[in-house]
Amino acid sequence: MMTGVKNMSNSPKGTALVTGASGGIGAVYAQRLAQRGCDLILVARSKDRLHEHAARIKAESGRTVDILVADLSTADGIATVAGRLEQDASITLLINNAGMMLPGAFLDNDAKGTVDLITLNVTAPTLLASAAAKVFLARKQGAIVNIGSVVSLLPEMFGGAYGGSKAYILNLSQSLAAQLKDGGVHVQAVLPGPTRTGIWTQNGLDPDAMMPGKIMAAEDLVEAALAGLDAGETVTIPSLPDEALWAQFEASRFGMAPHLAQRDIAARYRAGNV
Ligand code: NAP
Repeated sequence: MMTGVKNMSNSPKGTALVTGASGGIGAVYAQRLAQRGCDLILVARSKDRLHEHAARIKAESGRTVDILVADLSTADGIATVAGRLEQDASITLLINNAGMMLPGAFLDNDAKGTVDLITLNVTAPTLLASAAAKVFLARKQGAIVNIGSVVSLLPEMFGGAYGGSKAYILNLSQSLAAQLKDGGVHVQAVLPGPTRTGIWTQNGLDPDAMMPGKIMAAEDLVEAALAGLDAGETVTIPSLPDEALWAQFEASRFGMAPHLAQRDIAARYRAGNV
């Protein structure tokens, strides 16, 4: 969406650290970034799947591919990956992709599941973005890509804590993009619509039955997301055909800005008017 400066240097070479790279959208990012000439650090919990994927990418692209096994729903796992971001000066791109949904509706989920979701979808990308932003700013170069979701725009239509976690990702990305742009660091939020990956079946859902004819291939999603990164977009919505709709939404939001800080309460809330 047209909220960034067009600048091909937003897709740096160097090393990309991709979370959730053992399958789904993250695995496609890893493959496409290697094709573009990036070396890779692939992060997820499944060591075997990471090894297999890394070997395939190495064979196809000839790039260097490391794996980092970490559970990003734990403080230790987040610290391990943040430490790598802080210490490895070759890293120029963070893809904050790992995420989870929960089966059932908001009230069906127990406290542990909800805390795991918030830790993986909110705490981990926040702390990893913080670690990356500090080192990228010091080098005046780098990009942070945060994978959100279109559900951040449609909280009434899709489940509770997951939608909230993705709204947070959009909000954080827009805030960081504004703060970091003058320091040479680009931030992009990617908002996938329904995309064909294992996240649905793992949660007992059949996306084709829920939204027939509307499920995007992960390969197409990543192709659009990388085109948006190349174009310097702050927010990329691969499925939205008419970008004027996003521009209207943003104009409406910014239109409220001058009215939101006032000494006096709005007249409609004064005693006698309610
Ligand atoms: P996926 O196929 O389930 O893949 C998720 C990836 O995250 C896997 O590599 C998984 O690997 C990793 N992961 C899960 N839990 C983890 C943990 N605790 N620590 C570290 N890694 C973990 O899901 P996906 O559809 O590709 O989702 C990728 C991102 O896109 C997520 O943020 C999701 O919310 C977002 N998204 C997806 C859709 C969609 O329709 N698919 C739509 C909108 C947004 P391990 O199991 O090996 O750890």
